[in-house]
Amino acid sequence: MSARATDERSGAHSTHRAVPREKALTRQAEDYLKVIYEIEQGGSPAATTDIAEQLGIAAASVSGMLQRLARLGLVKVERYRGARLSASGRLIALQLIRRHRIIESFLVTKLGYGWDDVHEEAERLEHAASADLVDRMADALGNPTADPHGAPIPTVAGRVDERRLASIADLPVGARARVVRMSDRDPELLRYLKKRGIVPGAILRLVEREPFDGPISLTVGRAKQSIGATAAAAVYVEKSARTDR
Ligand SMILES: [Zn+2]
Repeated sequence: MSARATDERSGAHSTHRAVPREKALTRQAEDYLKVIYEIEQGGSPAATTDIAEQLGIAAASVSGMLQRLARLGLVKVERYRGARLSASGRLIALQLIRRHRIIESFLVTKLGYGWDDVHEEAERLEHAASADLVDRMADALGNPTADPHGAPIPTVAGRVDERRLASIADLPVGARARVVRMSDRDPELLRYLKKRGIVPGAILRLVEREPFDGPISLTVGRAKQSIGATAAAAVYVEKSARTDR
Protein backbone atom coordinates (compact mmCIF):
# COMPACT_ATOMS: atom_id res chain seq x y z
CA MET A 1 0.00 0.00 0.00
CA SER A 2 1.35 3.43 -0.83
CA ALA A 3 1.97 6.07 1.82
CA ARG A 4 -0.82 8.13 0.35
CA ALA A 5 -3.29 5.43 1.12
CA THR A 6 -2.76 5.66 4.85
CA ASP A 7 -4.58 8.95 5.33
CA GLU A 8 -8.24 8.32 4.80
CA ARG A 9 -9.53 11.50 6.40
CA SER A 10 -12.38 12.47 4.23
CA GLY A 11 -11.84 16.16 4.74
CA ALA A 12 -15.27 16.89 3.33
CA HIS A 13 -16.15 19.04 6.33
CA SER A 14 -12.97 21.06 6.27
CA THR A 15 -13.23 24.65 5.22
CA HIS A 16 -9.96 24.67 3.31
CA ARG A 17 -9.94 23.78 -0.35
CA ALA A 18 -6.60 22.31 -1.31
CA VAL A 19 -6.42 24.19 -4.59
CA PRO A 20 -9.18 26.14 -6.27
CA ARG A 21 -10.45 24.40 -9.36
CA GLU A 22 -8.88 25.70 -12.54
CA LYS A 23 -11.71 27.88 -13.76
CA ALA A 24 -10.21 28.21 -17.19
CA LEU A 25 -10.02 24.51 -17.95
CA THR A 26 -12.40 23.15 -20.55
CA ARG A 27 -14.13 19.83 -20.15
CA GLN A 28 -11.77 18.46 -22.77
CA ALA A 29 -8.69 19.61 -20.83
CA GLU A 30 -10.09 18.06 -17.65
CA ASP A 31 -10.67 14.78 -19.48
CA TYR A 32 -7.02 14.80 -20.60
CA LEU A 33 -5.81 15.17 -17.01
CA LYS A 34 -8.03 12.33 -15.86
CA VAL A 35 -6.93 10.02 -18.67
CA ILE A 36 -3.24 10.80 -18.09
CA TYR A 37 -3.72 10.04 -14.39
CA GLU A 38 -5.33 6.69 -15.21
CA ILE A 39 -2.61 5.71 -17.69
CA GLU A 40 0.14 6.75 -15.23
CA GLN A 41 -1.36 4.35 -12.68
CA GLY A 42 0.01 1.62 -14.94
CA GLY A 43 3.52 2.84 -14.05
CA SER A 44 4.69 4.69 -17.15
CA PRO A 45 4.13 8.14 -18.69
CA ALA A 46 1.02 8.55 -20.85
CA ALA A 47 2.00 8.07 -24.49
CA THR A 48 0.20 10.17 -27.10
CA THR A 49 -1.30 7.08 -28.73
CA ASP A 50 -2.67 5.80 -25.41
CA ILE A 51 -4.23 9.18 -24.60
CA ALA A 52 -5.82 9.31 -28.06
CA GLU A 53 -7.17 5.78 -27.71
CA GLN A 54 -8.66 6.44 -24.27
CA LEU A 55 -10.31 9.65 -25.42
CA GLY A 56 -11.44 8.20 -28.74
CA ILE A 57 -9.71 10.92 -30.77
CA ALA A 58 -6.96 11.06 -33.42
CA ALA A 59 -3.39 10.92 -32.09
CA ALA A 60 -2.51 13.95 -34.21
CA SER A 61 -4.77 16.19 -32.13
CA VAL A 62 -3.22 15.21 -28.78
CA SER A 63 0.09 17.07 -28.87
CA GLY A 64 -1.51 20.52 -29.15
CA MET A 65 -3.51 20.00 -25.97
CA LEU A 66 -0.49 18.52 -24.17
CA GLN A 67 1.48 21.66 -24.97
CA ARG A 68 -1.32 23.82 -23.65
CA LEU A 69 -1.49 21.79 -20.45
CA ALA A 70 2.31 21.99 -20.15
CA ARG A 71 2.19 25.80 -20.42
CA LEU A 72 -0.37 25.81 -17.59
CA GLY A 73 2.10 23.78 -15.51
CA LEU A 74 -0.28 20.82 -15.31
CA VAL A 75 1.76 18.24 -17.22
CA LYS A 76 5.37 17.59 -18.11
CA VAL A 77 5.92 16.24 -21.58
CA GLU A 78 8.94 14.01 -22.11
CA ARG A 79 9.92 13.59 -25.70
CA TYR A 80 9.34 10.07 -27.05
CA ARG A 81 8.04 8.95 -23.65
CA GLY A 82 4.80 10.82 -23.06
CA ALA A 83 3.13 13.07 -20.51
CA ARG A 84 3.23 13.01 -16.72
CA LEU A 85 1.04 15.07 -14.43
CA SER A 86 2.64 17.78 -12.29
CA ALA A 87 1.55 17.99 -8.65
CA SER A 88 -1.16 20.52 -9.53
CA GLY A 89 -2.29 18.52 -12.57
CA ARG A 90 -2.53 15.43 -10.39
CA LEU A 91 -4.62 17.26 -7.81
CA ILE A 92 -7.08 18.44 -10.46
CA ALA A 93 -7.33 14.90 -11.85
CA LEU A 94 -7.99 13.50 -8.37
CA GLN A 95 -10.62 16.14 -7.67
CA LEU A 96 -12.40 15.14 -10.88
CA ILE A 97 -12.21 11.49 -9.92
CA ARG A 98 -13.57 12.39 -6.47
CA ARG A 99 -16.51 14.21 -8.09
CA HIS A 100 -17.15 11.34 -10.47
CA ARG A 101 -17.20 8.70 -7.75
CA ILE A 102 -19.25 10.71 -5.27
CA ILE A 103 -21.81 11.52 -7.98
CA GLU A 104 -22.05 7.82 -8.88
CA SER A 105 -22.47 6.91 -5.21
CA PHE A 106 -25.16 9.55 -4.78
CA LEU A 107 -27.10 8.43 -7.85
CA VAL A 108 -27.07 4.79 -6.71
CA THR A 109 -27.65 5.31 -2.98
CA LYS A 110 -29.98 8.29 -2.92
CA LEU A 111 -31.71 8.25 -6.29
CA GLY A 112 -32.10 4.53 -6.93
CA TYR A 113 -30.03 4.30 -10.11
CA GLY A 114 -28.56 0.92 -11.04
CA TRP A 115 -24.77 0.61 -10.71
CA ASP A 116 -24.61 -0.09 -14.44
CA ASP A 117 -26.44 3.12 -15.19
CA VAL A 118 -24.42 5.90 -13.59
CA HIS A 119 -21.06 6.18 -15.36
CA GLU A 120 -22.18 8.25 -18.35
CA GLU A 121 -24.22 10.55 -16.13
CA ALA A 122 -21.20 11.05 -13.84
CA GLU A 123 -18.94 11.71 -16.84
CA ARG A 124 -21.09 14.73 -17.65
CA LEU A 125 -21.85 15.95 -14.14
CA GLU A 126 -18.24 15.76 -12.88
CA HIS A 127 -17.42 18.80 -15.01
CA ALA A 128 -20.47 20.80 -14.00
CA ALA A 129 -21.01 20.16 -10.27
CA SER A 130 -19.53 22.73 -7.88
CA ALA A 131 -17.14 21.65 -5.12
CA ASP A 132 -19.80 22.63 -2.59
CA LEU A 133 -22.48 20.44 -4.19
CA VAL A 134 -20.11 17.47 -4.30
CA ASP A 135 -19.10 17.98 -0.65
CA ARG A 136 -22.77 18.11 0.36
CA MET A 137 -23.44 14.92 -1.60
CA ALA A 138 -20.50 13.27 0.20
CA ASP A 139 -21.85 14.44 3.57
CA ALA A 140 -25.34 13.13 2.75
CA LEU A 141 -23.75 9.75 1.98
CA GLY A 142 -21.71 9.71 5.20
CA ASN A 143 -18.45 10.34 3.34
CA PRO A 144 -17.98 6.93 1.71
CA THR A 145 -14.46 5.73 0.91
CA ALA A 146 -15.45 3.70 -2.17
CA ASP A 147 -17.94 4.14 -5.00
CA PRO A 148 -20.61 1.58 -6.05
CA HIS A 149 -18.05 -0.23 -8.21
CA GLY A 150 -15.59 -0.47 -5.31
CA ALA A 151 -13.24 2.26 -6.60
CA PRO A 152 -11.64 4.37 -3.85
CA ILE A 153 -12.88 7.96 -3.50
CA PRO A 154 -10.06 10.51 -3.18
CA THR A 155 -10.29 12.97 -0.28
CA VAL A 156 -10.66 16.72 -0.84
CA ALA A 157 -6.90 17.01 -0.37
CA GLY A 158 -6.31 14.42 -3.11
CA ARG A 159 -5.38 11.43 -0.98
CA VAL A 160 -6.36 8.09 -2.42
CA ASP A 161 -5.57 4.40 -2.16
CA GLU A 162 -3.43 3.71 -5.22
CA ARG A 163 -2.59 0.07 -4.57
CA ARG A 164 -2.30 -1.93 -7.73
CA LEU A 165 -4.61 -4.92 -7.60
CA ALA A 166 -4.53 -8.18 -9.50
CA SER A 167 -7.49 -9.04 -11.72
CA ILE A 168 -9.30 -12.37 -11.81
CA ALA A 169 -7.34 -13.03 -15.01
CA ASP A 170 -4.07 -12.89 -13.00
CA LEU A 171 -5.14 -15.45 -10.38
CA PRO A 172 -3.56 -18.91 -10.33
CA VAL A 173 -5.78 -21.99 -10.27
CA GLY A 174 -6.92 -22.71 -6.73
CA ALA A 175 -6.56 -19.12 -5.53
CA ARG A 176 -9.22 -17.58 -3.33
CA ALA A 177 -9.85 -13.87 -3.57
CA ARG A 178 -12.24 -11.12 -2.58
CA VAL A 179 -13.60 -8.80 -5.24
CA VAL A 180 -12.51 -5.22 -4.50
CA ARG A 181 -13.56 -3.22 -7.53
CA MET A 182 -14.43 -3.41 -11.18
CA SER A 183 -14.12 -1.26 -14.26
CA ASP A 184 -17.33 0.75 -14.65
CA ARG A 185 -16.96 1.67 -18.30
CA ASP A 186 -19.19 -0.97 -19.86
CA PRO A 187 -22.74 -1.16 -18.46
CA GLU A 188 -23.37 -4.49 -20.16
CA LEU A 189 -20.30 -6.00 -18.57
CA LEU A 190 -21.46 -4.73 -15.15
CA ARG A 191 -24.87 -6.35 -15.65
CA TYR A 192 -23.21 -9.56 -16.79
CA LEU A 193 -20.97 -9.66 -13.71
CA LYS A 194 -23.75 -8.80 -11.28
CA LYS A 195 -25.93 -11.61 -12.63
CA ARG A 196 -23.11 -13.97 -11.71
CA GLY A 197 -22.74 -12.52 -8.20
CA ILE A 198 -19.42 -10.90 -9.08
CA VAL A 199 -19.73 -7.64 -7.12
CA PRO A 200 -17.43 -5.87 -4.62
CA GLY A 201 -17.11 -8.00 -1.49
CA ALA A 202 -17.86 -11.33 -3.23
CA ILE A 203 -15.52 -14.20 -2.38
CA LEU A 204 -14.44 -16.37 -5.25
CA ARG A 205 -12.13 -19.24 -6.05
CA LEU A 206 -10.51 -19.92 -9.39
CA VAL A 207 -11.27 -23.52 -10.30
CA GLU A 208 -9.96 -23.93 -13.81
CA ARG A 209 -8.56 -21.90 -16.64
CA GLU A 210 -8.66 -22.96 -20.28
CA PRO A 211 -5.54 -22.06 -22.27
CA PHE A 212 -5.39 -19.42 -25.03
CA ASP A 213 -7.54 -16.88 -23.18
CA GLY A 214 -10.32 -19.44 -22.90
CA PRO A 215 -13.04 -19.51 -20.26
CA ILE A 216 -12.21 -19.27 -16.55
CA SER A 217 -14.23 -21.40 -14.13
CA LEU A 218 -14.94 -19.94 -10.72
CA THR A 219 -16.94 -20.56 -7.64
CA VAL A 220 -18.62 -17.39 -6.45
CA GLY A 221 -19.98 -18.04 -2.99
CA ARG A 222 -21.43 -21.51 -3.60
CA ALA A 223 -22.34 -21.08 -7.25
CA LYS A 224 -20.20 -22.26 -10.15
CA GLN A 225 -19.62 -19.69 -12.86
CA SER A 226 -17.64 -19.45 -16.05
CA ILE A 227 -16.50 -16.13 -17.48
CA GLY A 228 -14.35 -15.03 -20.41
CA ALA A 229 -10.90 -13.46 -20.27
CA THR A 230 -12.16 -9.93 -21.00
CA ALA A 231 -14.63 -10.01 -18.11
CA ALA A 232 -11.97 -11.54 -15.83
CA ALA A 233 -9.51 -8.74 -16.63
CA ALA A 234 -12.06 -6.08 -15.61
CA VAL A 235 -12.51 -7.38 -12.05
CA TYR A 236 -9.85 -6.45 -9.46
CA VAL A 237 -9.37 -8.66 -6.45
CA GLU A 238 -7.44 -9.05 -3.24
CA LYS A 239 -5.93 -12.51 -3.00
CA SER A 240 -6.53 -14.38 0.21
CA ALA A 241 -3.62 -16.28 1.74
CA ARG A 242 -5.55 -19.55 1.57
CA THR A 243 -5.14 -21.51 -1.63
CA ASP A 244 -6.51 -24.94 -2.38
CA ARG A 245 -7.08 -26.99 -5.46
ZN1 LIG B 1 -17.74 5.90 -13.56
